[in-house]
Amino acid sequence: MDESKKRHHKIITAVVAALLLVVLIALWFGWHRTEQAADVPAPPGTAFTYEYVKPRSPKLVPTYDLVSKQNVFALMPEIHAVDRAFLVPQTIHFVAAECGEANAFYSPPKAEVVLCYELVDDILSKAKKTAKEQKLDDAFVSDYVYGALRFILLHELGHAMIDQLQLPITGREETAADEFAAVLLLQYLDWGESRGGVESSLHYAGVYLAGEAGKHDVSEFADEHEIGEQRYFNLLCIVYGSDPSGFLDLVTEQGLPKERADTCPAYTRRVMTSWYELLSPHMAKKYQSTRQEWLEQGIKGRQAQDKNVDQYLR
Ligand SMILES: [Zn+2]
Repeated sequence: MDESKKRHHKIITAVVAALLLVVLIALWFGWHRTEQAADVPAPPGTAFTYEYVKPRSPKLVPTYDLVSKQNVFALMPEIHAVDRAFLVPQTIHFVAAECGEANAFYSPPKAEVVLCYELVDDILSKAKKTAKEQKLDDAFVSDYVYGALRFILLHELGHAMIDQLQLPITGREETAADEFAAVLLLQYLDWGESRGGVESSLHYAGVYLAGEAGKHDVSEFADEHEIGEQRYFNLLCIVYGSDPSGFLDLVTEQGLPKERADTCPAYTRRVMTSWYELLSPHMAKKYQSTRQEWLEQGIKGRQAQDKNVDQYLR
């Protein structure tokens, strides 16, 4: 190879190397950009916070210990499931505290769902009293307390959502908050498992909130929270309507009247659809679902099909 050919060869090699480098750099940047694009997370929903304030009153300390050690708020499957699921303008704080009365409430200015230790105490003592009278074991006491608290906290979360998301509900807010609680119980129900957990939670919530021996003395749970028979049956109706054969116990054992039960599937469908329309614009991307998916998760079988439910039998 003569000198000019050698030089020519070197130049070509250098040009090819430079081109390769440019291509590699371009590829690297391009790849990195797409990787970054894929990695950019959708805005997550607003996280809840959980706080257990130490009580001043020594007699509430055991309740505080119990509630805080169990992390009662995070223990509730539906609260855990919807934590970060919604784009709420203000963080919703779950606070357990001494209040001076047995109550649970939502406080709009600070977006706080407050659970009073006195309420937990009251539920616990009623559960223990019933267990003693009816010779029931500790499992009954924990099911009772868990069921009542589960419903009460979901109901209060309903108030929080209505306020925070400015949801255009119609009718009484108490009814809407009850419906929200029932919808969440059904949306996060594992249909493969027994429905006993949801039934028992609703049952104990009803027993506690309706007071003893059907007196409906619910002064502890603030006046506007009166859970008369009508409200209780409303809840049972929503749950029964989601799966009439699966929840047959609600009619045979929990007193949901048969005539009422027949109207429940249509009612459940309406409630489930309304809450989908209310909540879906506020769902974090990761949690978004179509109306059909939402209905299929909350309602079992053919009732979930997105078409008019037959109003008659052939
Ligand atoms: Zn309420």
